[in-house]
Amino acid sequence: MFDAGGADAPGGAGPSPLAGTHILLGERDAETAARFTRTLREHGAGSVHTVGTPEAFRRAGADPPAPVRFWDAAVWHTGLDGDAGSLGRFLEEWRAQHPGIPVVVTDDAPSARLAVTALRGRAADLVERSDPEGLAVAVARAVAERADPLGVEGSGQGSLRMLVVGAHPDDVEIGLGGTIHRRAHSGWDVTVLTMSGGGNGGDPALRRKEAHRAAEVLGARLLMEDLPDGSMADDRTTVEAVERAVAETTPDVVVVHSESDTHQDHRAVHRATLVACRKVARLACYQSPSATVAYRPNRFIELSEVDVEAKLAAIAAHHSQAASRWYLDEDLLRSTARYWGRFSQTRFAEPLELVHERNPLLF
Ligand SMILES: [Zn+2]
Repeated sequence: MFDAGGADAPGGAGPSPLAGTHILLGERDAETAARFTRTLREHGAGSVHTVGTPEAFRRAGADPPAPVRFWDAAVWHTGLDGDAGSLGRFLEEWRAQHPGIPVVVTDDAPSARLAVTALRGRAADLVERSDPEGLAVAVARAVAERADPLGVEGSGQGSLRMLVVGAHPDDVEIGLGGTIHRRAHSGWDVTVLTMSGGGNGGDPALRRKEAHRAAEVLGARLLMEDLPDGSMADDRTTVEAVERAVAETTPDVVVVHSESDTHQDHRAVHRATLVACRKVARLACYQSPSATVAYRPNRFIELSEVDVEAKLAAIAAHHSQAASRWYLDEDLLRSTARYWGRFSQTRFAEPLELVHERNPLLF
């Protein structure tokens, strides 16, 4: 699931996640519907059922026509039912009625505002309507991420679990916010562990509140420790704090600051986490603003526009920091994700430096 990209391309290795799937396609224009259907079928979809009105979409959603018994994914065109406001209402209603069926939204020219609406409504993705290939890739990804993660060896019972560790409030959002959002919304159980209240950067009570709000935006749970901001050590206290979170969350994957970082707290937390996670299947490092050029990523997690918007919204939740920190500039955050996208051949990505793996199927 954390492939370095390319696996979604037709002719790529392995069976397509769309093999044998049933897709409900909302599309008014017959020619566009035919193009989408052809491309989805080329990617392995078992059947594509097209409807041209919102009413027919809702009806088919609730009651798939035989022989289809359930939908694996749905595709909703914004033009079916008016403006961004109605997209929000549609997504809310769909999620309430069909929480397990991912929806990919198509639009003639997706705006940032529409992406935010799609994000809030937890759409799986937002795709330009002129791009059938992009649609097929988005649907395949939505289906693969929704798929029962029990198929992954060693994941134990239930969802895959990820623990993301940061020294200060906002570290994790900056390094891995998009990935957290992506995984949390595809059924992963994600916990953020923040080692301090960030007292050096402002009022700890306010920062704590902001941290909770940010985790909520991403769909993660937050655990907070109270280590001294600015003078953390890779000693027993820090190791035990991480060990407590590991015992509580039993993660399949842990992600933390890199060793290649100029901030002493980040390095200390990195080292303590290595020790605390010696028995965890996979450990990787995200990129902090204080990472040095020695940070050497070898995995790239592709992100949708919606994931990037969620990351920005989570970072913006840290109101008390937003104005004073150069690295919280939205343009910089967005272009950084855009830059890493070149390595996964997608528009946006976040990098990871994989430190150890005991289960190569996990990312
Ligand atoms: Zn930090």
